[in-house]
Amino acid sequence: MTYLDIKEKYKDVRIIAVSKYTTDEKIIALHKLGQIEFGENKVQDLARKKAELSETIKWHFIGNLQKNKVNHLIKAKPIMWQSCVSFEMAKYVDTRLDYELPTLLEINVANEDSKAGINPSKAIEEYLAIKQDCKFVKPVGVMCIGAMSDELSEIIKSFELCYKIFDELKKDGANICSMGMSSDYEIAIKSGANMIRLGSVLFN
Ligand SMILES: *Cc1c(COP(=O)(O)O)cnc(C)c1O
Repeated sequence: MTYLDIKEKYKDVRIIAVSKYTTDEKIIALHKLGQIEFGENKVQDLARKKAELSETIKWHFIGNLQKNKVNHLIKAKPIMWQSCVSFEMAKYVDTRLDYELPTLLEINVANEDSKAGINPSKAIEEYLAIKQDCKFVKPVGVMCIGAMSDELSEIIKSFELCYKIFDELKKDGANICSMGMSSDYEIAIKSGANMIRLGSVLFN
């Protein structure tokens, strides 16, 4: 499916175009087609593209955040930090922020060592701690990367676990469930995602 097909088919799902592997020209072309929100996984790339490309693009940070990059990220002013992995990291960012930053708690739903994110069993407690304790980091939902598996049932299980945590957090204000990438976004949407992060399917 093309970008416009996906947009048309899933009108209620917020699409984040992940531009980490593409060219500036392709970002601009997609922006001209109407895509506003883009995601980057490296602080320096986000900062450069935000400064150099269209001012009407809104940037999400979706990558692993190192402490020595926090000030740089804050200066770049993303509209969302999707990849907060712990209360500890949220606090670290919070003490340096001077504006409200909508944030998602990243959950390691399949408990894979290769992936970042909080253990599902700790997610609710830490989410509530962030909500209670942080002044500028504003938790608005959860994010996950689906299980890396050839078994459809394993992928579904991982998305359903993330959705279940999201569902429990709704009463505490969570309204974004960011899950699904190029290879599994249709499964993610069936499992309840209302935000998907698409890279290769949009830019190849
Ligand atoms: C790269 C990336 C994506 C997009 O991956 P594709 O498979 O190219 O769609 C989505 N989410 C995160 C966190 C990523 O790092």
